[in-house]
Amino acid sequence: MFCRKCGYENSDQAKFCVGCGEAIRPSGLGGPAVTIPNYMTQAVLVTLFCCVPFGIVALVYATRVNNKALAGDIEGAQEASDNAFKWIVISFILGFIVIFLNIAFAFLQESQKVQ
Ligand SMILES: [Zn+2]
Repeated sequence: MFCRKCGYENSDQAKFCVGCGEAIRPSGLGGPAVTIPNYMTQAVLVTLFCCVPFGIVALVYATRVNNKALAGDIEGAQEASDNAFKWIVISFILGFIVIFLNIAFAFLQESQKVQ
């Protein structure tokens, strides 16, 4: 491959340019690595603590992120990542509402006992 700095043609296995000493990276890996968050940890957490049905949807999407990224489907992985995040937010909010309703309900029962 050709050196990006000086244009010297080096062997494909070369790590440094013979012409100028610049570090050489294969063009496919040279750019910024594509990292797509899979939100797996968050998906597991919302499934455990917030809302199981929606948390599982988030888990399914979180699993798809890595599978698609490994298959080279970056667009699909990004889409799965967005969906995982969306469902995590939904289950997080729903989890809060459920917890709030439980507290409100318990509070109501307590106040009825007093009367
Ligand atoms: Zn060079």
